[in-house]
Amino acid sequence: MRAIVIGTGPAGITAAETLRRLDPSGSVVALTTEPFAPYSPPAMADHFLTGRDLPLYWKGQDVADRLGIDERRGARVEGIDTGSREVVLADGQRIAYEGLVVASGSRLHAPLAGADLPGVLDFKSLRTATELIGRVRRGEATSALIVGNGFIGIELSLLLADLGVDVTVIGRRDWVMPRVLDPVSSKVAEAALTSRGVTLRLGVEADAIVGDPSATGVRLADGRLLEADLIVAATGVKPHTEFLIGSGVETGWGIHVDTRLATSVTGIVAAGDVAETTDRLTGERYVHAIFPNAVAQAPIAAANLLGADLRYDGAESMNSLKHLGVPIVAMGTIESPDEVLRWQEGADLRAVYLRDDKIIGAQLAGDIRAAGVYHSLMVQRIPVDRYGRRLVEPGFGMADIVFEALGHGSASRSAA
Ligand SMILES: Cc1cc2nc3c(=O)[nH]c(=O)nc-3n(C[C@H](O)[C@H](O)[C@H](O)COP(=O)(O)OP(=O)(O)OC[C@H]3O[C@@H](n4cnc5c(N)ncnc54)[C@H](O)[C@@H]3O)c2cc1C
Repeated sequence: MRAIVIGTGPAGITAAETLRRLDPSGSVVALTTEPFAPYSPPAMADHFLTGRDLPLYWKGQDVADRLGIDERRGARVEGIDTGSREVVLADGQRIAYEGLVVASGSRLHAPLAGADLPGVLDFKSLRTATELIGRVRRGEATSALIVGNGFIGIELSLLLADLGVDVTVIGRRDWVMPRVLDPVSSKVAEAALTSRGVTLRLGVEADAIVGDPSATGVRLADGRLLEADLIVAATGVKPHTEFLIGSGVETGWGIHVDTRLATSVTGIVAAGDVAETTDRLTGERYVHAIFPNAVAQAPIAAANLLGADLRYDGAESMNSLKHLGVPIVAMGTIESPDEVLRWQEGADLRAVYLRDDKIIGAQLAGDIRAAGVYHSLMVQRIPVDRYGRRLVEPGFGMADIVFEALGHGSASRSAA
């Protein structure tokens, strides 16, 4: 097959790799707006702090040559002509395809007036992150305002604080990372953030990003104006779907795909941050913009493009904060639990959200060893009422599950 992959992020390069492996006599053109070899965005902060190229270039900088992929950098797709099956680039070039993988990812976003002003910075791609960090390194920026306190905004705030920037994070809710952490768990993150020098302004509504000709500040709903050298709008991510307008590919927030990751147009599949898939637990359509979803979807999408009939189980919500000093893992949802079990000692914390006696979400800080067990119980939808409060107590682990399954009660109770 003559295939084109739009994007060389984790989803795109994994799709291109799969196409080369399954169809060695076919051809793969991989297009990216980036000037860089395929990289892993979660490794960017480490790269900027340490200068290390690994794990940033997670597949090796020579991955395209090694696999025989025709990788074209700085190639922006502006449209898809689904009638003639051609991808149209910004320079007017048209490239014909038989099968197309859209893996164009997402960018940081905030639904605010002024969010598209020049000078509003992004940290979602290595190109935009290099521009942002370059301003700090050149001494052009000593202060930053980040509107939004999701995982990426928080990760960026830590990086900037480590680089000596005076950082303020503005959040509408009263606690950080409100989509995945509850107000109790987020206290651990907030303590770590403030001890690292990040200023948190929570429970504050940003009204608009302002500046002329480029962004210099954020006006709050109460009329106050905060100013800084760097302005980042990061309340969420927005999938890159603009080039699909008029193509017939159905989109909502992201690209609508079915369980085979096929779009509404024959011969076009989608994977990664750009794809609006169903949530594995709730069945709701959602863009879960995380690395494991991207690399799980890409091989399925690519194989199906070549004629396979693989099904995708659905996306997961799972986040971990790597640079806080205290490890934090959050998975699933905190919406509408029947019960929340919680255990905490200082910065060591476990909170498990239950509905119908099954785990629908969990948050761990400090000792995060139980994360794998919670995850497994959650995705397999195993009832957990038999464990009672032990579920969140120190030491709960796979051994408890095995002992219980063998009819011996919990491991530690048996040992006692
Ligand atoms: C700072 C940071 C930290 C993160 N930490 C974590 C983490 O700890 N754990 C986790 O699971 N996830 C994390 N993520 C999220 C994770 O990086 C993404 O889910 C993942 O990168 C998605 O991969 P993707 O290939 O779908 O999209 P992207 O990585 O966004 O790649 C998109 C690709 O499409 C290309 N593209 C876009 N538009 C066009 C166009 N018009 N024409 C041509 N090419 C185009 C881009 O150039 C790029 O090559 C983090 C992200 C960031 C930014």
